[in-house]
Formats: sequence, structure tokens, C-alpha cells
Amino acid sequence: MTDTVVETTEQSDKPTAIPHWIAGARREGTGRTAPVYNPALGTVVSEVGLASSEEMSEAIASANAVFPAWRDLSIAKRQSIMFRFRELIVQRKDELATIVTREHGKVHSDALGEIARGIEVAELATAFPLLTKGEYSENASTGVDVYSLRQPLGVVGIISPFNFPAMIPLWFAPVALAAGNVVVIKPSEKDPSSAVFIAELFKEAGLPDGVLTVVHGDKEAVDTLLTHPDVQAISFVGSTPIAEYVYRTGSEHGKRVQALGGAKNHMLVLPDADLDVTADAAVNAGFGSAGERCMAISVVVAVDSIADELAAKIKEKMGAIRTGDGTRDNDMGPLITGQHRDKVVGYIQTAADDGADVLVDGRDPEVDGDPNGFWLKPTLIDKVPTDSTAYKEEIFGPVLSIVRVASYEEGLELINANQYGNGTAIFTNDGGAARRFQNEVQVGMVGINVPIPVPVGYHSFGGWKRSIFGQGKAYGKHAFDFYTREKVVTSRWLDPSHGGLNLGFPQHD
Ligand code: NAD
Repeated sequence: MTDTVVETTEQSDKPTAIPHWIAGARREGTGRTAPVYNPALGTVVSEVGLASSEEMSEAIASANAVFPAWRDLSIAKRQSIMFRFRELIVQRKDELATIVTREHGKVHSDALGEIARGIEVAELATAFPLLTKGEYSENASTGVDVYSLRQPLGVVGIISPFNFPAMIPLWFAPVALAAGNVVVIKPSEKDPSSAVFIAELFKEAGLPDGVLTVVHGDKEAVDTLLTHPDVQAISFVGSTPIAEYVYRTGSEHGKRVQALGGAKNHMLVLPDADLDVTADAAVNAGFGSAGERCMAISVVVAVDSIADELAAKIKEKMGAIRTGDGTRDNDMGPLITGQHRDKVVGYIQTAADDGADVLVDGRDPEVDGDPNGFWLKPTLIDKVPTDSTAYKEEIFGPVLSIVRVASYEEGLELINANQYGNGTAIFTNDGGAARRFQNEVQVGMVGINVPIPVPVGYHSFGGWKRSIFGQGKAYGKHAFDFYTREKVVTSRWLDPSHGGLNLGFPQHD
């Protein structure tokens, strides 16, 4: 199961190159490249250019050049483009899902699911006239009116992770664009094609050239976005160490930065929960997308009296998961790279070495897919010690841990002590306990009998603690505030009676 390089087509001995999207056209990279794998085959299907600082700077300049015209385009025209984009992506979602499956590996139905959650935000973005309009106070003082405007910022950089190659660009770009900004997306270099597809759809929807740019790259491209004087704001999603770095560096360079980081999501199960429903929820939330979701449940916190029964039910339900090629009728695909798969396997071994019981071991090569794919089947580990790195660190793979606690209070304390605070869930039939949990838990997104509580588009997405840096959350009302700044105008139309000297501080009459 090693990473091997093969030809993408029979005619060519070079993998296809994934272009940047600059000034409304495909543009080939000129320098360093990185391989892009089909994780279900374990082979390189294309290569992506890694932009140099000069290439990124040129792209930022071309975006910045069209900002004045875009920000002043009428609301009606901008809104019709957003509506057309929404229609096009609905029509073309199968093609986009095919790209996601090819480069990420998740099964086709799951790829369609991530696109649906992205479309929600494209729909929200069509409501920008309502969500960016200002306020007006007539006669704040006699003959003086005061009103506020919300104006776009300029160039917004969006840096996205590999695990949602379509949804994360869709969570940020439509709102930033609708609010009148120009956007430069730097997708994950591991699955970069979805962002280019989205940019092409925006062009078809009527977005003027240069308003949305896609530049591929790695640290060099990211650092250029973080430090370039023409970039006003950064929306980043990725692992916590990089999120922290992005937040610090971007802020030091005067940018508005929101940086969403990693997670370790706990599901607290109280003794009165329906254990069949709970086990289904744990399996779905733990193993969907091979656990490569920032809102995946990675730890089931079971109150002792029901832990054995719950573990047995989870184990039984895991038996039905079909692991294999996402283009076939399977439930769970491969991991993103061989290197990442090996890292996740390392955590299973660490947990076992630290005394946990591996109840279901996914290190089994029997899958419905090519033997060279980056496979790891669902794994269940019970009695994971909370001082094991397998508990403390984000695993980001199909590994569900069970930690046993004596009481609600002990479970809550464990969750609140965790460095991350992205998502959590409680499973119980006791409304009072659920309400208490909602009040006491220090996590940004909470599910009550809902295992993956990703808020709908018209609420906002974002964690607490080391799962987010900066103030702005993704989508919802907050996003329109993040991508605009307020200007307040005090206005008076003068007549001769307003003349005369008065050096005092303005007062109202
Ligand atoms: P990552 O941090 O490795 O990469 C994210 C982005 O940062 C990519 O575009 C990458 O090119 C860039 N990058 C990587 N190293 C860099 C460096 N040294 N300097 C500058 N830029 C760099 O994350 P990933 O592996 O692509 O994604 C998985 C992570 O993202 C997980 O930790 C997951 O929890 C997190 N995630 C969080 C959310 C959320 O909403 N909180 C959503 C999705 C994913």
C-alpha cells in the first residue's frame, strides 16, 4: 500500500496539470508542482502548480484591479449573478461531486452532501441586500441625519483544507463576493480541482473576470496572502497549528483574520439514552467521510453503567459499513494520502500500547477497492486512557474512541478540559440534563440527540477555544459583518442660518 505514480491517460506520459484561475481564465503554473492522488487507487491523477510569491502577488494585483468596478456594480446585478450561480451549481452538482470523489476519496453520496451544505450558503448569499443594508436616523439633531453603510473590504483570501474541497470554498466565497469583495481562494493542494470548477461556474453565472481567483500552492502562496498589503481579510480553515500561525501572521500584517482550526468532538451518552439510536448516531458521525470531518465524533463518553452495552451495539453496527471505492456502492472511502493513513494507524497502535482495548481493528486490507488505495477500515477502541496521545490529539480518521466516566459531571469536566471546542453532542431522554449541558459545556456547537450539529446556513459555524482564532464565524449574519466594514455618515444640508463660528464639541438640539 505505497503511494505510486502512474500515467493519467494512455496518450500522455504526464499527469494532467490543474490550472490556476486568474482574471477569468485557466492559467498553468510555471514553477514547483505537487502530485494530486486518487486516494482510492493510490495513484497520481494530476499535478498542481505551487504558486511562487510572484505568481500569487500578480493574481492579487489582478483581483485588486477589478475591485472598484465590482463593489460599485448595482445590488440588483450582483444579486442576479448570485442567483444564477446557485442555479448552476444545483444543475452541475453531480459533476462537482465526481471531482470531489476522485481527489478526496469520499463516496459520491457524501460528496453530494457536502455540496448541499455549500449550496445552503450560496442561497444565504443571495440575501445580501437585506444583510448588508445600513440604518438611517432622520433628525438626529434638527436638520441632521445620521446613517450607516456597510462597505466591502477589498481582496479577501480564502485558504481551505483538504477535507471539504467544495463545501469550504462555498461557505466563504459566495458571501464575500455578494458583499462586494474580490476573492482569492488558495485551495488545499491535495484536492484542488473543485475550487476551479466553482470559479468556472461563477464565470458562467456572469461574474466579471478577476472578481474570483483561484491560486494553488503551499506555504509560499499562503504567506504571500497573509503579508500582501492589498489583501484586507483572510478566512482560513485547517489544522490548529496552522490556524494559529495564520491568525498571528495575518493580524500582524493588519488584516482581519478568521481562522478555524482542528477539533476533538465528544458525544456524552447518559444512561437513559436510547442505546440503539445512539449507537447508530455514533457510527454515522464517527465514520462518515472516513472520520475526516472537523465535526466528526471522535470520542464517545459513556457513563459506566451502559458502556459495555453501548460498545457492543456500536461494534455490531460497524459490521455493516462497506469500505471501498467511492465511485461504487460503498459507505466509506479511503484516507486522503498514504502518509495520513499511516499516521492514523500510528494512533491505533499508541492507544493499544497505552492500555486501550481495540474492539474493532480497521487495519485489515479486505476492501471493495484497489489494493493500492489508502485504506483503513472503521476502528473502535474502548477504555482509551485520557492521558494517551490517541485521546489528546486530533486523529482525523475512522477511529472512534470510547472513554468511560462515572457521571454526567465527570463527562462534562472531561469535555470542558479539552483544548478544542468545535462540536459536541449529548444523547439523553432527560430534557433537564440536556438543557444543563447546553448551558455548561464550553464548546461552540452543541447537538442534543444530534451527533453532527453543523448549523444551517442562516445561523453561523464556529467553535470555541483552540478550534477558532479571531472573532468572525463562518456564514450566517456574522459573515456579512466580517466581510464588510461600517461607515457612519452625519449629514446636514446647509442654508444661511447655519453660519457663524462655534468651536465647541458638536451637540444636538
Ligand atoms: P492543514 O492545516 O494541513 O491545511 C490547511 C490549509 O493550510 C491548506 O490550504 C494548506 O495548503 C495550508 N497550509 C498547510 N501547511 C501550511 C503552512 N505551514 N503554512 C501555511 N499554510 C499551510 O489542514 P488539512 O490537513 O488540509 O485539513 C484538516 C484539518 O482542518 C483538521 O485539523 C480539521 O479539523 C480542520 N478543519 C477544521 C474545520 C473547522 O471548521 N473548524 C473544517 C474543516 C477542517
